[in-house]
Amino acid sequence: MTDGIRQQPEDGETARLIRIAQAEAVHSGVSLSLVANTFVATTTAVVMWLHQPVRPVLYWIAAILALNAARLVVLKLIAVRNIVKKSPETALHLLSAGAFLSGLLWAGAPFLQGEFRLTGFNAYVILVLGGMSAGALMQSTAYARTALVFVAPLLVSAVVALFLTNTPVSMVIAADILLLSIVMLRTSRLSEEAFIRSQADRLRAVSLALSLSDANAEIRQSYRQLSLLASQDPLTGLSNRALFNQRLRAILDESDRPPASLAILAIDLDRFKAINDTMGHGAGDVVLREISRRLSSLAGEGDTVARLGGDEFAVIVEGADAPDRGHLIGEGIVKLAEEPVDIGGRPVVIGASAGLALYPDHGETAETLFASADIALYAAKQGGRRRLGMFNPALRARIERQRRIESGLPEALEQGELVVLFQPQISLLTGRVVGFEALLRWNHPELGPVSPPEIVQAAHALHIAYRLTAYVATRAAAFLKTLPQLGLDGIPVAINVSPREFSGSGLSALLVGITADHGVDPALLEIEITEEATLDAAAAGPELARLEAAGFRLAVDDFGMGHSSLAYLVSLRIDRLKIDRSFVNGIATSRENQTLISALIGIGLSLSIDIIIEGVETADEAEILRMLGCRFAQGYHFAQPMSAGEVAAWLAGRDATPALSAAER
Ligand code: C2E
Ligand code: CA
Ligand code: CA
Repeated sequence: MTDGIRQQPEDGETARLIRIAQAEAVHSGVSLSLVANTFVATTTAVVMWLHQPVRPVLYWIAAILALNAARLVVLKLIAVRNIVKKSPETALHLLSAGAFLSGLLWAGAPFLQGEFRLTGFNAYVILVLGGMSAGALMQSTAYARTALVFVAPLLVSAVVALFLTNTPVSMVIAADILLLSIVMLRTSRLSEEAFIRSQADRLRAVSLALSLSDANAEIRQSYRQLSLLASQDPLTGLSNRALFNQRLRAILDESDRPPASLAILAIDLDRFKAINDTMGHGAGDVVLREISRRLSSLAGEGDTVARLGGDEFAVIVEGADAPDRGHLIGEGIVKLAEEPVDIGGRPVVIGASAGLALYPDHGETAETLFASADIALYAAKQGGRRRLGMFNPALRARIERQRRIESGLPEALEQGELVVLFQPQISLLTGRVVGFEALLRWNHPELGPVSPPEIVQAAHALHIAYRLTAYVATRAAAFLKTLPQLGLDGIPVAINVSPREFSGSGLSALLVGITADHGVDPALLEIEITEEATLDAAAAGPELARLEAAGFRLAVDDFGMGHSSLAYLVSLRIDRLKIDRSFVNGIATSRENQTLISALIGIGLSLSIDIIIEGVETADEAEILRMLGCRFAQGYHFAQPMSAGEVAAWLAGRDATPALSAAER
């Protein structure tokens, strides 16, 4: 609809509709008139015959009856042929013609019995004519002409008859009749006008009602468009979360006959946030639109492709082959997302992870099925991203656990529920304590002991890794302050920091603040950087330099797991290398491990980097390592991680065990 509300009927159309109403009114009035006409004519003829039985009376009544019969036929014809509606003008002509002929016949009435004189009887005839006229005019309020053509001959004949009588009384009556005729004419005109006005009003009301209903329809239409908009993601044109949920519920929860199979894909872009942050929202929008396009190109006609928000997408795959197609679409989008997106002439690789869940195996309701797809996605991301993860029930327990850890962690940090234990580091040459490593512990109220990597991962997921580090560093600093009283003056304490925390300058600022607050020398706080593939030299370099400049000791953790090159380590100017526990395993028998460790020790010596061996569990291992030239070690053989409060007792116990100390010193 272009012009909004429907227009008023045009004037020509209104006139036609009014004509139809007039024709209808006349048409319906004529049948009653015919009955009255026939009755009055018959009685008049009978009275005339009784007064003076002459043939013209018979001819007259015969003509009237014949005409009325003919008019009745015409009346029926008009009704059957629907002439009133099709051509109201024709109907009115036909009806008027009948009325006129009838009027002519009636006009003959005064002259049927020869010479006309105003005797008592003729007065009766005039009265009948007057009554017929008045009746006809009162009857036809809608359309004056029909009545007029009937009445005119009647009145003319009455007046003529009265003139012919030529008595003063008849002259007065003739004049009265003329006067009355004028009044009746005027009245019938006025009533026709009133009828036309009322019809026009009615038509206007109808047309107003119609335009209101049009307006209503239009409002409903815009509402539909609005709700479509509200269910569409304006940026990508895909369905939004609301529509996605609605569709999935309609298929699984609200349908009497759910499908035999269905697949849900949950998709997440890997590098979207970074692109949005570094290249701007415009670039982010380009990425989202392009990925939407690629995703839509993979999905089928009947599938629902949705953007759930941010960089999250989802697909409902329907049809008998849903499981297979779900796989194909999932693998397809992971592959297509690795093809660069052109952002202002620059090719940028995004990458996507996807999770797949199948109905009914992985969930029977919309909610559980989608949660399964989400879990599969989560697992795909944890498994290294840029892959399709398939849901399996074991995942659910694992992810559920992870979720619970995440939901409880902020509060646990707040309440100090996390414990930091300290594990001593020992000199293999002197047996003295040369350092401690701070290690996190959390005894979850429902889940029991939660491992440190799980805590760290949850902190990263919640973007509170710094809070966790601050928590540990604060306790390490407090522990450092107690060491002189234990006779361990100038001994460092190490904390673990995950590589991802080295981007930006938050970490150095944080640690400088904590050491300053506690009055601790930064040289006594060692920072262990877990060696990870993701440790990005370019990103972490400046922060490492700042930490070093602030006087902190730097150590590379888990060395030997194969991630970092020695050249790189040298460039970092670290103080310590921690050799991973896996090299200690079987050190007594494995010549290979023995060779490796002595090589590493040689390198450490030449680069003046301390080497410390982790995970020493037996006296034999400690002895072999000492013979290989290893100077420092850490492991259960010396001590389990312990709380700050337990350290004094452990130290005292150690001194009281001469055999042990003898072996180590
Ligand atoms: P890691 O830095 O390599 O820490 C050494 C791990 O080996 C500790 O496990 C320690 O308890 C364990 N360990 C020590 N001696 C022995 C031994 O003789 N035999 C065996 N089998 N294990 C030994 P834990 O405490 O479970 O920590 C695991 C990992 O969690 C740590 O590995 C570290 O990467 C991370 N982590 C622990 N605390 C923190 C923390 O505060 N922050 C961060 N970012 N990571 C932490
Ligand atoms: Ca460590
Ligand atoms: Ca380690």
